[in-house]
Amino acid sequence: MLFVSDLDGTVVYSRRTAHRALTGLVGVEEYDGTMISWVTPDSWRLLARLSADGRFVPCTTRTWEQYRRIDLNGRPEWVICCNGGAVYRSGRLDRDWDETIRASEPPELAAAAAETAGRAAAAGWTCRYVPPYFFYLVVPPGTPTTTLDQIESRLPGGEGWHVHRHRDRKIYWISDAVSKGAAARYVAERTGSSVTLAAGDEELDLPLLSAARRALLPRHSSLVGTAAAAQAEVTAAEGVAAGEEILTRAVAELSG
Ligand SMILES: [Mg+2]
Repeated sequence: MLFVSDLDGTVVYSRRTAHRALTGLVGVEEYDGTMISWVTPDSWRLLARLSADGRFVPCTTRTWEQYRRIDLNGRPEWVICCNGGAVYRSGRLDRDWDETIRASEPPELAAAAAETAGRAAAAGWTCRYVPPYFFYLVVPPGTPTTTLDQIESRLPGGEGWHVHRHRDRKIYWISDAVSKGAAARYVAERTGSSVTLAAGDEELDLPLLSAARRALLPRHSSLVGTAAAAQAEVTAAEGVAAGEEILTRAVAELSG
């Protein structure tokens, strides 16, 4: 019995995604001296309980370093980072999963990343390569959608990798082997367990939601009402309160 959950926009919330005033919330992530992520006080208490329970597995597109900036009021034993590309147990990279992912690295991903980084730098954009999992472009605010369409058509997915556009804010080129669902199934296998409950708010979470017996979707998610997420239960609350509802349901499920 595992509860595998996305973090940003599902458990922890930014100023933009909280859907309420930040006063009274608990800050859980500081970056460059500024608080950038929050949870409700009840979420904070629930996180202490879940983080001490080996069955809560955070599952994020963040790298390990980015993940470690978030205070989950404890240290979950298993953590999935890099959109499923990297699995950590007690703070150590799981070598078996790492080998599996590295063995399936698309041969042309590094070259595509280097070329895109060069073009991005010339245009004043940021391109980040997180080998061997993916690379992404950070889209400057106000960039027309047609520009993004052009970028995507100029560099479509190749052999073993695909393109994913994240709310017109980032464009990812991701190895096909890298999936939150595959990593969640791997952790379940390693722990002799199964993915009982999963939660996530975005397209990259769909493989995770499909891997679970029960899936939770926060009401503010753009996946609500789509065929792809039809099997998921939608929370009554939205924003940071949806995070609390998800954690409450997880604690009930794990103790039930
Ligand atoms: Mg998310």
